[in-house]
Amino acid sequence: MAVPSMSLEQEINPWEAQSARFEFAARKLNLDPGLWKVLSTPAREIIVHFPVHMDNGSIEMFTGFRVQHSVARGPGKGGIRYAPDVSLDEVRALASWMTWKCAVVNIPFGGAKGGIICDPKKMSQGELERMTRRYTSEIIEFIGPEKDVPAPDMNTNEQTMAWIMDTYSMHMRQTVTSVVTGKPLNIGGSRGRREATGRGIKVICDESMRYLNMNVEGCRVIVQGFGNVGSNAARLMHEAGYKIIGIAEFDGGLYNPNGIDIHQLLEYRSRNNTILGFSGAEAMPSDEVIESECEILIPAAMENVITSRNADRIKARVVVEGANGPTTAVADEILAEKRIFVMPDILSNAGGVTASYFEWVQDRQGYFWKEAIINEQLEQILRDSFEDVTRYAEAHNVNNRIAAYMLAIDRVAFTIKQRGIYA
Ligand code: NAD
Repeated sequence: MAVPSMSLEQEINPWEAQSARFEFAARKLNLDPGLWKVLSTPAREIIVHFPVHMDNGSIEMFTGFRVQHSVARGPGKGGIRYAPDVSLDEVRALASWMTWKCAVVNIPFGGAKGGIICDPKKMSQGELERMTRRYTSEIIEFIGPEKDVPAPDMNTNEQTMAWIMDTYSMHMRQTVTSVVTGKPLNIGGSRGRREATGRGIKVICDESMRYLNMNVEGCRVIVQGFGNVGSNAARLMHEAGYKIIGIAEFDGGLYNPNGIDIHQLLEYRSRNNTILGFSGAEAMPSDEVIESECEILIPAAMENVITSRNADRIKARVVVEGANGPTTAVADEILAEKRIFVMPDILSNAGGVTASYFEWVQDRQGYFWKEAIINEQLEQILRDSFEDVTRYAEAHNVNNRIAAYMLAIDRVAFTIKQRGIYA
C-alpha cells in the first residue's frame, strides 16, 4: 500500500488514518464513484454547546459531539468519550471506524461516535452526572434503540450509561434500556460484556495460530496495556496455554521469558494499583517490552503506538490489535515488508461491539441469556469473521487490514445500493 511521505502529526491524525485505508480499499474494490462519496462523508454531525451548574455555583459551557457516519445497515453504534482534546475530526474518524467494524462482524448496526470536551479527572460525580444528562437531552431526538445506540468509551463507564438510559427514559415516560449498551448488569446490561473484547482477541489469536500452523502451547505473547482489554485477553490466553512473557504499562513494563502468572499479577495489581514491583517478572522499560521477540504482540492500550518511528524494531510474528488504531498507515507498510501477520482492530477488538449487540437484543427481548451462550455466540461470530477476512485477503491478494476494509465497504455499499438513494 503506497502511502505518501508525511509528518508524524499527519501520520497520527485519526481521520488521515481511516481515510488512507478507506481510499486504498475502495480503489481495490473499484467502488462506484457515487457510493465512494456517500461512504466517505458522515451522514450526520451534531455539535451541541450547553451549560452545566458546577459545584462551586458557577455555570460552565461544554461542547459535545455525536457523529453518525452511516445508518444504512441499522442504528448507529459507538461509544461516547470524555476528554479535553476530543475534536470533531477525531469523533468523525471513530464513527466511520464503527461502520466498518460492525460490517466486518456482520452485525446489524451502522457506525457512530460521540464525545464531550471536558476534563473528567477534575470533575466531581455530581458535575459529571449533570453534564451527561444535559448532553443526552441535547441529542435526544437523534439517539434511540432504532436510531443510534451509544456505549462507553474513553473515560465513560457503566455509570455514565445508566445516567444516559435514565435521562432518555424520563423524556420517553417509560424505561428504555436498549438506548445504550455497556450498562450495569441489573439495569439491562449483558453477562460477558466486560471481558468480551479480550475474549474476542483470544479467538483471533487462536485462529491466527491455526491459520499459520503455529502452536498455542508455549506461544510467546506480549501485551501492551493491562486495562479492560489487555488484562482480560492476557488472563484468558494464559489459561489457554499461551506464555505471556511481557506486559507494558504507561509507567513501566514487566518481562519474564518463562511466562508471567497472570492470575498472580491481577491479584498484585488489585492490591497495589500498579503492575510495577511484581516479583514474578523483571522490570523492563515499556518500549523495550513491545520491541522484544515474541510470536504475538497485542497492542491494547491506545492509538498510534506502532508508527514509522518504531515499526522496524517490532519482532513479533503476529500483531493482533486490541486498541483502536494502534498502527499508523505508514507503519502498516513497514510491518508488511517484515512479513508480520497483522490482524486489524476492526476485526480483532470487535468482540466488544458484538457483545453490545447481544445486550441490545436481550434488552429488546426482555430475556437475558446465560453467559455460556453469550461466549459461545461471540466466539462463533469472531471465528466466522476471521475466516471471511482471511479468505478475502487471499482472493484479492491484499493484507488482512485492507481485506477487512474491503469486506466492510463492500457490505455497506451493497446495502446502500439495495436500499437505493431516497429522493
Ligand atoms: P483501559 O483504560 O481499561 O485500559 C488501558 C490501559 O492501557 C490502562 O491500564 C493504561 O494504564 C494503559 N496505558 C495507557 N497508556 C499506555 C502506554 N503509553 N503504554 C502502555 N500502557 C498504557 O481501556 P480499555 O477499555 O482496555 O481500552 C484499551 C484500548 O482498546 C482503547 O484503544 C480502546 O478504544 C480499545 N477498545 C476497547 C474496547 C472495550 O470493550 N473496552 C473495545 C474495543 C476497543
